[in-house]
Amino acid sequence: MKYEWGDDRRFNSYSGYFRRLFGGRVQKLAVNAGFTCPNRDGTVGQGGCTFCNNEAFTPSYCMSGGDVEWQLAEGIVFHRRRYRRADMYLAYFQSFSNTYAPLDRLMEIYDRALAVPGVVGLVIGTRPDCVDDEKLDYFARLARDRYVAIEYGIESCHDATLRAVNRRHDFECARRAVEATASRGIHTGAHFILGLPGESDRMLVDQTDAINSLPLTTVKFHQLQIFEGTPMAEDYRRNPEKYRFWELPDYIDIYIEILRRLRPDLVVERFASEAPPRYHAGPTWGLVRNEQLLAMLERRLEERDAWQGELYMP
Ligand code: SF4
Repeated sequence: MKYEWGDDRRFNSYSGYFRRLFGGRVQKLAVNAGFTCPNRDGTVGQGGCTFCNNEAFTPSYCMSGGDVEWQLAEGIVFHRRRYRRADMYLAYFQSFSNTYAPLDRLMEIYDRALAVPGVVGLVIGTRPDCVDDEKLDYFARLARDRYVAIEYGIESCHDATLRAVNRRHDFECARRAVEATASRGIHTGAHFILGLPGESDRMLVDQTDAINSLPLTTVKFHQLQIFEGTPMAEDYRRNPEKYRFWELPDYIDIYIEILRRLRPDLVVERFASEAPPRYHAGPTWGLVRNEQLLAMLERRLEERDAWQGELYMP
């Protein structure tokens, strides 16, 4: 059976989305351009979000201090050796807040990345309070003939949670940024963490309505992971009762409840992921790779005869 996103997978997958857009496999290459974050340097806050440990998600070639072209070339070599399938690449600016700099610096970095052979577009991770009209107009110009996505860390639709994890912006700020981005024809993504302290399963399922109300292209979810060296790791040691963690099968079941309510046109980039065990200060699922997580989700969707958007009401 074909679902409305055009294939027989039970959710609107990121790989299917790129196949439709580019006609083949596209690989994201993480790049660290040396940006910082206003929630760390004192501009909007200090100490950062309580869960933040950028290192846990950054490939080693990004930490070498090499320039953007060098990192992209290293990334292409690494992925060609490992996967041998992609010949189109997206430069993925993942670490910290990648629009937190004056416009001329952004232009220099992103124009250079797009000039690397094989790079067909950009994915730019940032905070919702780090964009303005001028910057978005620049990205909109790039997006006329290249793939450009801006991915916002939203993390939760609940302001009390955002305050508790020291995000230093509220959900309305995220909504404004998403609307301003999408209205310019830029692909717009959002990241959410499932399981932040104080959020029940019901709240997580119910916040799907708020997610559906945003003009997003892609969504990415992660289960809460607590990393060494973060304020959250200290809080967890002092107040473990504030935290809850799912066993993997239970997480998949709660995620399926979210998926059943999720707008069918929203592309699901990720529903869970495991950072390397050495970073963890809390419980983990062990060494489970993203492909295994996806296979488990697909098996469970099949068993439950469930699919994305089956309960979605416009
Ligand atoms: S999660 Fe993002 S916004 Fe929060 S401290 Fe880390 S880099 Fe900054």
